[in-house]
Amino acid sequence: MLIMQQLRYCVSRGWAWNRLYSSQAKGDIYDVVVIGGGHAGTEACAAAARMGARTLLLTHKLDTIGEMSCNPSFGGIGKGHLMREVDALDGVCARCCDVSGVHYKVLNKRRGPAVWGPRAQIDRQLYKRAVQQELFNTPNLQIRAAAVDNLQIDADESANGGARCNGVLLNNGELVQSRSVVLTTGTFLRAHINIGLEVKEAGRIGDKPAKALGEALNRLGFRMGRLKTGTPPRIAKNSVDFSKLEKHDADDPPTPFSFLNKNVWLSASEQLPCYLTYTTPRVNDIVRDNLHVNRHVTEEVTGPRYCPSIESKVLRFGARVHQVWLEPEGFDSPLCYPQGISCTLPHAQQVELVHAIKGLEQAEVVQPGYGVEYDFIDPRELYPTLETKRVSGLFFAGQLNGTTGYEEAAAQGIIAGANAAGKTLHQDGRQLNISRTEGYIGVLIDDLTSLGTNEPYRMFTSRAEFRLSLRPDNADMRLTQKGYQFGLVSEQRYRHFQQTEHKLKTGIEALRGLQKHSNFWRQALGLPQAKASIQKSAFDMLAVPADNITVNQLIDLCPSELSWLRDDNDLATRLKIEALYSFFVDEQQRDVDDVRREESLCIPADIDYFSKSLSLSNEERQKLTLIQPQTIAAASRIQGVTPSTILRILKYVKKADILRASHHSS
Ligand code: FAD
Repeated sequence: MLIMQQLRYCVSRGWAWNRLYSSQAKGDIYDVVVIGGGHAGTEACAAAARMGARTLLLTHKLDTIGEMSCNPSFGGIGKGHLMREVDALDGVCARCCDVSGVHYKVLNKRRGPAVWGPRAQIDRQLYKRAVQQELFNTPNLQIRAAAVDNLQIDADESANGGARCNGVLLNNGELVQSRSVVLTTGTFLRAHINIGLEVKEAGRIGDKPAKALGEALNRLGFRMGRLKTGTPPRIAKNSVDFSKLEKHDADDPPTPFSFLNKNVWLSASEQLPCYLTYTTPRVNDIVRDNLHVNRHVTEEVTGPRYCPSIESKVLRFGARVHQVWLEPEGFDSPLCYPQGISCTLPHAQQVELVHAIKGLEQAEVVQPGYGVEYDFIDPRELYPTLETKRVSGLFFAGQLNGTTGYEEAAAQGIIAGANAAGKTLHQDGRQLNISRTEGYIGVLIDDLTSLGTNEPYRMFTSRAEFRLSLRPDNADMRLTQKGYQFGLVSEQRYRHFQQTEHKLKTGIEALRGLQKHSNFWRQALGLPQAKASIQKSAFDMLAVPADNITVNQLIDLCPSELSWLRDDNDLATRLKIEALYSFFVDEQQRDVDDVRREESLCIPADIDYFSKSLSLSNEERQKLTLIQPQTIAAASRIQGVTPSTILRILKYVKKADILRASHHSS
């Protein structure tokens, strides 16, 4: 029934369903070979094929293409921005989430639209099916189940002493030749998983690691490191006492991820709820009492900062109580996902821990949580195109580069796939680079390739210095034209974009052109009268940050000029957001210019990073106190110190300088 509903929705959107598995094509030279069918690999192979490159996806198992290894959700704050940008470049994940989400919610709604985070709980099986159906029907793309053990590296005749990747070697010894290779092997390189003191070689539970390939990369001289992440136990839904828990309903109406969609496949009433519960002091005791049987987490090595395990939260924050969200795994799944208790204790202690949580006293732990330890490549080995500096024609994308999250992987995948295809197809040497001013994808890639990382990197809105203009609502205006010019965006998507752009521009012009005295607007909109009445445009009035000043209200006031804007709610919402941010975007640019101008300003050695007026996060305090940067430029290069913090430090130091100068002169 659900599959039929998803199928009907997809057919209504023009998806093709006529081809299933592509046949193998041995002995061919491909333009692009992508290794790994996770979230980076699916975007990479779809991007390369969309551009017209003859592409082959090689992955361990066809059935795990599009697998969500951990949480059954996509999007969120910062991550939702990345998804919108991937969609603006005609990527796969946003459209697939619009036909497989079960609970859509825009996070951060209390704050401005620039930092809203579109997010959805996803039905794992439906998502995987949607991705597979899309890929199996993509022209120019062949897909094959195989394990890659090595890379074919030859001398690069076009570069002095350089190396070039000309293909891959499978574990049966077969050579698959290719002009470019994109590696997206996630957490699989020389990986093992930990439960309690038990260690198993695996890339994730049930999947073998990529041992030989990890060794091959090491032999090639790539700078590599080890990272850790983990996942919570899975719980039988029918063993949870939901009556004790806080129920949270999804948004009505649900907001689609893709710019192509006005709605998602489900109505608001068909969505599933999430439930909230909390850990108890007993949970903290269980964690502390069992550290000696927990190989993955110790007092010294607590694991990833941005998707922390329950053990690291207890060790870092002591006796606090922590939220646990019980999230649906899908319509037909008998499981629920307890977000917030990623755990690597032995199985028996995990059961004890789960039972110490309200509503889970009788819960059945169907699969224990586990940790995974894996090799990653120092992303400073890469150019911003994601091609390696060491080996021409070889690209890396996804968790392999030190990131965490499906969205971060997808964002890198689409850029690596496009550039790998571009290397063969664009004789003029054009590359697809997204700058920090153009998108979160640019922030992600610039942070990785220039700063590197020593812990799994995840996206936050605070990492972007231009976040007032890099909004989820305008990702298409920032990126679709650029993607189209590179050959990455289909004609259908581009036509859709052009129509939207035309409507938006015409709407802004009409609102700007409609000028009246401010007291006319104020009276009509129920605002207090001003002493001086000056000319104001309808766009100026829409910029007033009040929910009750809307495009529809302006249409009612001036129907002869604006009635053509009626009945397009999407356009009305976008116009309101454009108006709201028009002033602040200019102000943001001034702040950015200030920081650039003052980069060499010295930070006094006695600066108090704990001062309330700096309002730094714990992470920032720790890093700044430890590193003691001497200048604003040095502070801005510290991973995890946000651009807005740099601006606050700059203002703080300048104010202190002025106070000191006036003190000396008096
Ligand atoms: P993956 O999705 O891992 O895909 C890699 C693909 O490559 C797989 O299909 C694999 O079969 C294939 N492959 C690997 N080696 C080879 C080879 N030699 N030959 C052929 N195919 C190969 N993210 C979060 O945001 N929050 C979390 O809490 C979180 N917890 C996680 C917990 C665990 C246990 C794991 C495993 C992952 C977790 N993640 C988490 C990470 C999330 O799953 C990844 O960020 C995301 O899946 C990365 O996408 P990717 O495409 O880089 O790699």
